[in-house]
Amino acid sequence: MTTIGTPLSPRATKVMLLGSGELGREVLIALQRLGVETIAVDRYDNAPGQQVAHHARTIAMTDPDQLRALIQAERPDLVVPEIEAIATPALEALEAEGVTTVIPTARAARLTMDREGIRRLAAETLGLPTSPYRFCDSLEELKAAIEDGIGYPCVVKPVMSSSGKGQSKIDGPEGVAAAWEYAMSGSRVSNTRIIVEGFVDFDYEITLLTVRARGDDGEIETQFCEPIGHRQVSGDYVESWQPHPMPEPALERARQIAGAVTQDLGGQGIFGVELFVKGDEVWFSEVSPRPHDTGMVTMVTQWQNEFELHARAILGLPVDTTLKSPGASAVIYGGVDAECVVFDGVDAALRVPHTDIRLFGKPESFVTRRMGVALAYADDVDTARRNAAEAAGRVKPRAV
Ligand code: AMP
Repeated sequence: MTTIGTPLSPRATKVMLLGSGELGREVLIALQRLGVETIAVDRYDNAPGQQVAHHARTIAMTDPDQLRALIQAERPDLVVPEIEAIATPALEALEAEGVTTVIPTARAARLTMDREGIRRLAAETLGLPTSPYRFCDSLEELKAAIEDGIGYPCVVKPVMSSSGKGQSKIDGPEGVAAAWEYAMSGSRVSNTRIIVEGFVDFDYEITLLTVRARGDDGEIETQFCEPIGHRQVSGDYVESWQPHPMPEPALERARQIAGAVTQDLGGQGIFGVELFVKGDEVWFSEVSPRPHDTGMVTMVTQWQNEFELHARAILGLPVDTTLKSPGASAVIYGGVDAECVVFDGVDAALRVPHTDIRLFGKPESFVTRRMGVALAYADDVDTARRNAAEAAGRVKPRAV
């Protein structure tokens, strides 16, 4: 049985988000609607989620001492990582000591903290199909890995990175040194380890949102949302849509792979499983044990969006992954480097039929920083994609 307390009372149900960006912000809103007391943690002040939570805390989440001290002081019932860059061994220790519960589990947070833990689990432990890959710690190792079998084209990524940072494709020997240098500049922490992956010539890629939540009998059940198609530029998502049509055998295979990896990671909550598809063949690429950026489209396509599904699942509540309408999302980029921006054209954007927008309220803008998202629903995905892109394009960030 799930019992929820009253916020700001001694009987509050308290949830702490570690990372309070645009995805965390929507989780916080969903939790607040269910009467949960929320604590939004980020590494900088006024992060999007901090603007909507009961409490805002700013710490270096990669520092185990700061993280432990904060969790011990706040004593949340649940700790919900929203980003990868967290001192996950500290979370594992706190979970083992019974201080708090980490979503979905502290082990899942550790394994998905860098590309190595999750890739080795998926490919080597679970035997799931992935691109061929090698981990390298120097330019020489990278050259050898490519020559020994990875071949061209291939993709180089820092193990400690996300959203395409430091990632590049190599088409021939002349590109290897530059890819190495670029990876070194894009790594999240001072870490020289990279993964080199054989390039998968997929027809399309999807995110399969997979939810582990309590069923009627109290047992954990796995449910899948409709597949989300997306387009990436330089490793970063620019638009997504749902549903993405798939042949039944490929969808079945995708669900098997997503089911296997999420079952191993365990716990409760939503997972964004990234897969490559060619014909009926499916490769595992990555998994986020939390809502996924491409899944923002569900704010307009599902009765319960991915953030609400996460909030419900982690509280032990039932979930419903049913599609409401085909739809699409398109990212609104900063377009300028500025400490403060205003957004012109919001009215014009919302005049595009059946659209909505989210502006994340990030205090600082960079040219390629995701500052908002446009959402559109329609009878078909193509119309929704066109309208979402049109609405996103009408929002003009301006430095002030
Ligand atoms: P990632 O950060 O690993 O999710 O990569 C970002 C995007 O780069 C993916 O969504 C793909 O579009 C592309 N990508 C990454 N790895 C590969 C690969 N091995 N083969 C082809 N495309 C890839």
